[in-house]
Amino acid sequence: MTKGKADEPTVPLQPFFDELRRHLAQTTAENLKAHRTPKQLRAVADTALDAFGSTIAGMESISPPERPLACKKGCTHCCHQAVLTDGATTLRIATYIQENFNPADRMLLDMRLIAYEEKVEGMTQSQRSLSQIPCPLLINGSCSVHPVRPLICRSFNSYDAESCKKQIFSGGSTSDIPSWNIPWLLGIALDNGLKDALIESGYTEGDLELGLALKAALDHPEAAERYLAGDRLFARAAWSSRKP
Ligand code: SF4
Repeated sequence: MTKGKADEPTVPLQPFFDELRRHLAQTTAENLKAHRTPKQLRAVADTALDAFGSTIAGMESISPPERPLACKKGCTHCCHQAVLTDGATTLRIATYIQENFNPADRMLLDMRLIAYEEKVEGMTQSQRSLSQIPCPLLINGSCSVHPVRPLICRSFNSYDAESCKKQIFSGGSTSDIPSWNIPWLLGIALDNGLKDALIESGYTEGDLELGLALKAALDHPEAAERYLAGDRLFARAAWSSRKP
């Protein structure tokens, strides 16, 4: 199981999500064309993350969850999947870490990222999806980069934690977990819109595995400048570089 694209449920709101994807892709590509700077790249990532929060707040009144959600602090089942994200979000997370982690926490994260890389090295997509390796950003049952966590981490909202546990730790599918589908569809739309814009702007890696991409971002000084200049910083983190 991969914390990425699952079967996408079809709902009457789909045209809205399609338009949202198109709009985000267009405005993001235009913004990057006008200002190809680390500051703009950070703004691009923040815009997509903020759009999720503001849109879901508005949609909750139109199509609220059918019952209480099971997601809560300390429940980490979904953090044991491969997290797929993009270059802008990865660099946003790297900046957050550089600005907020103290030296001891940063050293521990670097050690976890090295261990993570060693574990996932050489795995096929299928092996990685079934490996249940925890996200290196998970600390004491919490997300250590919660304010800037990837869209896909915000999107899955389960009604049943036991079902998450059963599916994730048996290699099942997220589509079999009962969940509130509005944030899922919204997250996929924004995630795809951001990736569409990055590809249109020449950053063609597509889905990146968060742990590997983050290690590359933190290991390289001036990572954002190098990424923007076309350095293929995240080549090893590209999901497509793994055999199926
Ligand atoms: S980034 Fe945070 S929320 Fe996402 S998988 Fe990692 S620890 Fe969990």
